[in-house]
Amino acid sequence: MAYRSPWVDAEIADLKSMARSFFETEALPHRERWEAQKCVDREFWLKAGRLGLLCTGMPEEYGGGGGTVAHDFAVMEAQSQVGESGFGGAVHSGLVAYYLLHYGTEEQKQRWLPGMATGEIIGAIAMTEPGAGSDLKAIRTTAIRNGDHYLLNGSKTFISNGSSADIIVLVLKTDPAAGVRGVSLLVLETKDAAGFTVGRVLEKLGMKAQDTSELFFDDVQVPVENLLGDEGKGYVYALNQLAHERLVVAVTGLSVIESAVALTVDYASSAKPSAAS
Ligand SMILES: Cc1cc2nc3c(=O)[nH]c(=O)nc-3n(C[C@H](O)[C@H](O)[C@H](O)COP(=O)(O)OP(=O)(O)OC[C@H]3O[C@@H](n4cnc5c(N)ncnc54)[C@H](O)[C@@H]3O)c2cc1C
Repeated sequence: MAYRSPWVDAEIADLKSMARSFFETEALPHRERWEAQKCVDREFWLKAGRLGLLCTGMPEEYGGGGGTVAHDFAVMEAQSQVGESGFGGAVHSGLVAYYLLHYGTEEQKQRWLPGMATGEIIGAIAMTEPGAGSDLKAIRTTAIRNGDHYLLNGSKTFISNGSSADIIVLVLKTDPAAGVRGVSLLVLETKDAAGFTVGRVLEKLGMKAQDTSELFFDDVQVPVENLLGDEGKGYVYALNQLAHERLVVAVTGLSVIESAVALTVDYASSAKPSAAS
């Protein structure tokens, strides 16, 4: 009998199987076109939302599936196992939604999570900058309070879902002189955001249909109501959520490895011995 991880009960197994057939029928046929356009179709997000494959771990009161991270992992595993690497659902449902759930006010959760669950709102998270990767505290993008809004200046790079995102959780400095105590989280609503531009969608070795992008901020105004959690606590929030992110990356990576082994075993078992062997 095939091994089943302890966290996979019958419900999770059913969800995974349904998600797998969804990716096989709705994503794989479009792979070449999506890779050429460097992003998946917007309609695909809406289809995933209609089937309940987005925000599966979010509470039902916010439009989510009412499940747990195990439900998110089932969808991520299904995607990896069919070899679909363009759809940024793991970032959207597995990372961004949790930032909103943990640090958002009730009003913010009601404002963004239901749309994320239907696929009408696509989410991204932007920490990395040209000069700040592993060393998150080296970020230089600033958000300086000016009355009822923050004024954003700087840039981000390598941002998954960057060109398609409707909301971006930004990690930036609201008090550049205060070191890590000056780091905060702000949610940028990208539609009609004056001064916000998406730069290149980056060429990568793999995940070619995922829009990993550069972002630029030139005096972008973000209302103070879009501050996520408390000012100055963004670094601590990010460190907490990065632990979750590592699990998401590990689950996805392991599924890809398992699929590669299964494909290899399948191929090696079915290959006919050559005359020379
Ligand atoms: C496909 C893809 C999608 C991404 N999506 C996002 C996203 O959605 N949002 C986002 O914010 N970022 C995203 N990133 C960026 C990612 O988080 C960064 O690439 C990562 O943080 C590493 O930063 P870096 O690339 O600048 O490498 P660096 O920080 O320059 O590190 C390069 C190497 O040096 C090593 N290193 C660094 N510091 C030390 C040290 N002090 N001691 C020893 N070794 C060290 C690192 O381990 C690494 O091997 C994405 C990246 C990729 C490739």
